[in-house]
Amino acid sequence: MKVLIIGGGGREHAIAWKVSQSPKVDKLYCAPGNAGIAQCAECVDIPVIEYEALADFALSNKIDLTIVGPDDPLADGIVDVFEKKGLRIFGPRKNAAIIESSKVFSKNLMKKYNIPTAAYETFDQADKAIEYLKTRDFPIVVKADGLALGKGVIICNDFDQAVSAVKAIMEDKQFGLAGSQVVIEEFITGPEVSVLAFCDGTHIIPMASAQDHKRAFDNDQGPNTGGMGTFSPSPFYTEQIHEYCQKYIYQPTMAAMKAEGRDFVGILFVGLMLTKDGPKVLEYNARFGDPEAQVVLPRLKNDLIDVIEACIEGRLDKVNLSFEDNAAVCVILASDGYPLSYEKGFEIEGLDNFTDKEDYYVFHAASKKENDKILTNGGRVLGVTAIGKTLKEARSKAYEAADNIHFKNKYMRKDIGKAIQ
Ligand code: ATP
Repeated sequence: MKVLIIGGGGREHAIAWKVSQSPKVDKLYCAPGNAGIAQCAECVDIPVIEYEALADFALSNKIDLTIVGPDDPLADGIVDVFEKKGLRIFGPRKNAAIIESSKVFSKNLMKKYNIPTAAYETFDQADKAIEYLKTRDFPIVVKADGLALGKGVIICNDFDQAVSAVKAIMEDKQFGLAGSQVVIEEFITGPEVSVLAFCDGTHIIPMASAQDHKRAFDNDQGPNTGGMGTFSPSPFYTEQIHEYCQKYIYQPTMAAMKAEGRDFVGILFVGLMLTKDGPKVLEYNARFGDPEAQVVLPRLKNDLIDVIEACIEGRLDKVNLSFEDNAAVCVILASDGYPLSYEKGFEIEGLDNFTDKEDYYVFHAASKKENDKILTNGGRVLGVTAIGKTLKEARSKAYEAADNIHFKNKYMRKDIGKAIQ
């Protein structure tokens, strides 16, 4: 079959690598892809937001299945555009992708269906939000409703900070339309765990757990980023917690979406906080996490195409999903200065040492090829993943590889997975 992957980051490289392992796939395309993805797919120069052009490409090239990586096209309804043209595509329709693209929607869904989450109120007027803040204890969390590249969540230690956050989101429109409503949420504490799950609209099967590191600097300091590294499984996510989440979070979320007429087909990412009162949902995403995909997919035993087809055809309950009994750690190599300002266009050296080497995967997040050289092309450049029998072994292998890949302004956190050993 012919498969098209949409996106061009580390997540899409991990998906492309996994899809390319499937004996069912004869031809793999990726739009727009990157220099790493080009090793396993033919890259097509169409931006992810040009849905009509992507659908036309799929039609004229007789693509049998399209897989969407990033959140924006899903929130915008790329799946609906493809389906209207009779094309098979994996991801939630616009009316289900709202579970990520509106925090007001997802919080109200959880309240209506008794899914555990932090207590909250929503507001569409700044003055009402500020009146409410006068009655609250601090810290408190102020969130812009819509997609804001992970920056629309502001933890406020006192009333003044919270008022500034509300004004920045609702009056100064720092996140544009994403800020026409806010969620004001109780501050909760505990270890954070990410669980990605395959969904077919009725059934949901969670994958192995993962944990990410969002802050730019060691010891969780500095600004929030798209993610500086991740590992799988999370030692905090015990069998007992998993059972609780199945019963009170995953299954009820699927049932809630169905009851709302918004059947969710695709990957549901559940961001959990394991509080002393039990696991609570921090957020839902409607797609694979980046970099979580880079540690979860290398551990997946199943053929990814088989699982995706089962999701699209509503027979996920027949799938026996299984993961290797090992661990994976992914260290992001970024351009120094990310996520603020950074330079790009530097040659990457040392990649050959890890190409096709067992237990090592170098997923490209932002790279391009010029005159036979691979150059850096963004803030997060590479995700270096290693597999080990234990997290400790995987961690030391990931750092061994990360130390042996070079570019001029390379920056990485040194403590990915360290705290759990
Ligand atoms: P992402 O980039 O993952 O999509 P997002 O913008 O959707 O992020 P959230 O995941 O909702 O934001 O929150 C980002 C981070 O803020 C969380 O990982 C968590 O550390 C913190 N956070 C969010 N809500 C709360 C809360 N109620 N109490 C304490 N911390 C919180």
